[in-house]
Amino acid sequence: MDISLVIPLFNEAESLPELTAWIEQVMKAHNYSYEILFINDGSTDGSWQVIESLQKKNPQIKGVKFRRNYGKSPALYTGFQRVQGDVVITMDADLQDSPDEIPELYRMITEEGYDLVSGWKKKRYDPLSKTIPTKIYNATARKVSGIYLHDFNCGLKAYRNEVVKNIEVYGDMHRYIPYLAKNAGYTKIGEKVVRHQARKYGKTKFGLDRFINGYLDLMTLWFFSRFGVKPMHFFGLLGSFMFALGFIAVIIVGTTKLYNMYSGNPYRLITDSPYFYLSLTAMILGTQLFLAGFIGELISRNAQDRNHYQIEKEI
Ligand code: UDP
Ligand code: MG
Repeated sequence: MDISLVIPLFNEAESLPELTAWIEQVMKAHNYSYEILFINDGSTDGSWQVIESLQKKNPQIKGVKFRRNYGKSPALYTGFQRVQGDVVITMDADLQDSPDEIPELYRMITEEGYDLVSGWKKKRYDPLSKTIPTKIYNATARKVSGIYLHDFNCGLKAYRNEVVKNIEVYGDMHRYIPYLAKNAGYTKIGEKVVRHQARKYGKTKFGLDRFINGYLDLMTLWFFSRFGVKPMHFFGLLGSFMFALGFIAVIIVGTTKLYNMYSGNPYRLITDSPYFYLSLTAMILGTQLFLAGFIGELISRNAQDRNHYQIEKEI
């Protein structure tokens, strides 16, 4: 099979027939063998009935219905587990992404050898309240991940089948699939300018909290890619350093007092010195950090995928 389309949706009943007809027309024009996977993420409108009736007319359409709303990432993950096509293309269900981009995305994966091609909504049809924070968000994501994409969270993306089978999208991590792919060793990541349209039906499913959550998730991924399996390298280092600092300081405070005491100079009680409390705090924090690292190590030692490596070839 040439192409698997994965389309996560939450209350998009009005858009589905139009989207499906458009996809079918593109697929037919290029003679692709394909499947369309609709992942109904707990819609409460008639989306599932629409998918059922579409499926009756075209058996290449498949549907998964979640019992409740889990989010876009769980929907994508579920789709990725099921896809069979050589090229996997994800798109939003709200008609903001154009199926006309499919042939070029397919060509870039199959002929130019990309692992992943991400859409870039160069001209966006979204409200200003979204486009401006998006610019800052993408700049941060570029810096942290080291992947030079303009538009990380574009719903329209194409992958080599192998890529989606070897990454695990969860939580809200759909925003950083290119970063997940890079961390899994798939580094040939490209970009294609895609046409974007204003939402025709329904309304957006994400509010402004997307930017806060997106930022936190980025930190998690960054930290995880660097120290995920060796947390001690971060916490242990910081903890030992702080502890040593506090310990040395407390010795200096103590010996200064003893020295002054025995040489007959005026001296202060240790507990009268602010430095004593600073060193105490440093030692306590140091121990805490060290312990956090050690507990992290115990957890990662038990993690199921601690010895999962992406093997490219073996002879
Ligand atoms: N979506 C989903 N589950 C959710 C939220 C969104 O499957 O919990 C789908 C939604 O139906 C759409 C896609 O994810 O197909 C992108 O969502 P939306 O268009 O609301 O995001 P925006 O375009 O505003 O970034
Ligand atoms: Mg949308």
